[in-house]
Parts: sequence; structure tokens; C-alpha cells
Amino acid sequence: MDTDSLLALDRQYAWHPFTPIREWLDPDFSPEPPVLVSGLGAVLRDSRGNEYIDGNSSIWTNLHGHNHPRLNAAITAQLERFAHVSFLGATHPLAIELARELVALWPAGGLARVFYSDDGSTAIESALRMARQFHQFRGQPERRAFVAFDGAYHGDTLGAAGLGGIPTFHDAMKQGGEPLEVVRVADVEQVFALAPARANTVAAAVIEPLIQGAAGMRLWPAGTLRRLREWCNANGVLLIADEVMTGFGRTGTMFACEQEGVAPDFLCLAKGLTAGYLPLAATLTTERVFEAFRGEPGERRAFYYGHSYTANALGCAVALENLKIFRDENVLENLGSKIARMAELLRERIAQLRPVVEVRQCGFIAGVELHGDPAGRLIGRDVCHVARQHGLLTRPIGDVIVLMPPYCITDLQLESAVEAIRAGIVEVTEA
Ligand SMILES: *Cc1c(COP(=O)(O)O)cnc(C)c1O
Repeated sequence: MDTDSLLALDRQYAWHPFTPIREWLDPDFSPEPPVLVSGLGAVLRDSRGNEYIDGNSSIWTNLHGHNHPRLNAAITAQLERFAHVSFLGATHPLAIELARELVALWPAGGLARVFYSDDGSTAIESALRMARQFHQFRGQPERRAFVAFDGAYHGDTLGAAGLGGIPTFHDAMKQGGEPLEVVRVADVEQVFALAPARANTVAAAVIEPLIQGAAGMRLWPAGTLRRLREWCNANGVLLIADEVMTGFGRTGTMFACEQEGVAPDFLCLAKGLTAGYLPLAATLTTERVFEAFRGEPGERRAFYYGHSYTANALGCAVALENLKIFRDENVLENLGSKIARMAELLRERIAQLRPVVEVRQCGFIAGVELHGDPAGRLIGRDVCHVARQHGLLTRPIGDVIVLMPPYCITDLQLESAVEAIRAGIVEVTEA
């Protein structure tokens, strides 16, 4: 089918997330969305034969590139056995092995149990429910609230979105009442300032460690995570680390929490868990939390939560191969020099441009914040449109341009990605 027919059918039948419908449905709206048909490494190709560097790793998921031979092979090997079986009342080797490997990435005695679900939102949803029930089982049912930050983004189920602190995404959903009892704070100082009576109603504090993603790649002041852990310890509050974006090397270490020496009570993983291949998520927690759910048959202590595709075998297969690639190919060591190169390129070619407010970087994640347009023009969107003509596919967050390519990106590709952003900024702001 040709591109025009495909796009016409898309406009007729599909509904895209986070997408204003009016523009999407307008066939004259420029530029037309790419119809992506194949990928190799850090490059994606569309139905018109254009090639793009995958500048945001297909919305923060991809790690080692598209069409990776080892990842492909891991899926096909499992496919010869089965694609999916229930994890209710049964188990399978790959889910067992993956659970052991995820736990082994943490110091012994900390995170000890793995609960599988499907995506970042359900990984968070699981942690929220576990945290509340933990306190309930231990005789503190009044601990129902969650500490969450301004600018937070933890996903889109009603529970996860209830934690959200981004007005554009979350305000409409909260019309008519908050879905979750949230103690909203701007920073960790405000957490320490909470009255003891308020702190005693909190089940858990939830944070994106080191960097808030959807808020526009905003970095936390150093020590924020460590201090939050201290406050949680002092107040009997559980700590939920949302590493859906930051997990699996994105910040330069396997997990962002490592950089502040923090072990959370819950660790939520998704996006990079399968190297961006399949929807699979994991909520890791401690033996202490797990034990609270142990009870007599009549006590109804089980965690009554789960999804049809929990512990999907193809997802587990590719997640295990992802971890093997980290080990066999020294991914984290090699990433170090790419992170440094990215910083250098951004400093030399982007930071001094007049329309740039700030360049932020955390590991292999960069956000280039531009001055907003007083007349309300969507600068970020326009810059990404031009960058696409220069061979880079990425999505802005408001006036922030995101660059977080797959780790397999070559130095030359990284340079052209930064050049495409530079061209976008120059063309849009001087036009
Ligand atoms: C993407 C993201 C989520 C939600 O994950 P989904 O897989 O989209 O449900 C949650 N938290 C953070 C930090 C994210 O970046």
C-alpha cells in the first residue's frame, strides 16, 4: 500500500496517544507523520525512503538499536516453544531466571522480589497498591497518601496519573476530584517540612531519581534522592523509585539510584527492560514488603492484582538477552565515552545559540530548553520538524528538545543528530 493510502486509513481508523486530533486529521498539516517501515541500529526508515536517527529511542525505550541480531534471535528461540502462558498458578523458566537476574543487580538483602506487569504505568500501579496494603496489613490503614513532586510523571493509569504533577497532562483528569490522595511537594525541603501528623498518613514517597523526564528533563539537585530516603526512614514511609526512564544505563550507571547510594523499597522498571522491544515491566521490592502479604488462607492477604500478559515469555526472553548484552559487550563502560562526547557536542554547537535557555544532560539523556515564543508559537515542535528534515526524529516536551538516542549510536551519527538540532534551532528562530 502506498504512503498516501496508509495515512488516509490511519486518519480514518486510528487514535494516537497524546495527540491533538485536529492537526493529526488534517491532510494538509505539515509535515506529514512518518510511516515507519524498518529500522537498523540507531536508524529508522519511513515508507517514502527517508532515514532518521531515532533521536528519542522510540520514546525512551530502545537501548541497543533496532533489528538487533541477538535480541531478534532470543525472541525467535522462545517463539519456537510458546509466546505466552499464564503466570497465575504456573510459572516458566525465563520469568524465573529474569527475576533472579534483576535481584542480582542489587546489593544482597535489599530488593529481593520481582512482580511482573506490562508497562511503566502498571509497574507504578503495582507499587502503589503494595505500599498501601503493606501498611494496612501491619495495622496502619491510615497510611494511604503518597508524596509526589511537582512535574512528576509516573504513567497514565488512574493511580499513576494521580501522582502526576504536569498540568497539561494531568489537570483534565483531576476535574471532579483527585483519584489518589497526594501530598504534593516542590522539592525535598518541603518533604522535611511536613508536619508529623501529615507524615503519618503517608504510605510512600514516589520519585523519578536524578531526573524528571516528562517535566522536560529536569535534574534534581544533588542529594535529593538520598535525603528523601532519609526522610522516609525517619517517618516509616516506603520509597518508590520510578526508574522506568532512567533504568538500564540511561544515566550512565545501571540504575540512577546507585549514584546516590540509595536502595528503594520499590523499584519500577519498564521501557529499557526489554531494550525497547516488547512491553514488559517489573516492580522489585524487599522481602519485608513481600512478607507482609503472607497470611492464613482466610485472611485474604494475597496481592489481588495482575494482568493477562504478566511475565510474557517473549518479553522475558528479550529482557534476559538485554542483560547478557550489557555484560558481554561492556555496554556501560562504552557508554561513558559517548556520554562525554554528547556533552562536548552540546557545549560546542548548541549551548551558545541565542535561543537556548539551558542545556541539561544526565548520562545519555539531554534536554535543550529554548526560549518560549511570546506569541505562543510552538517552538519545540517547529524545531523538531526541521530537525526531521535534517535526518533526526525526536519529540519535544514543550520548548525542550529531547536527545536520548540508542546506546549503539555511532560518533558520526551522534554528531549529525546534534547538527540536526542546531539546524532546527537556527532555521526556526531566524525565519
Ligand atoms: C514512560 C514513563 C512511565 C510510564 O510508562 P508506560 O510504559 O508509558 O506506561 C512512568 N514513569 C516514567 C518516569 C516514565 O518515563
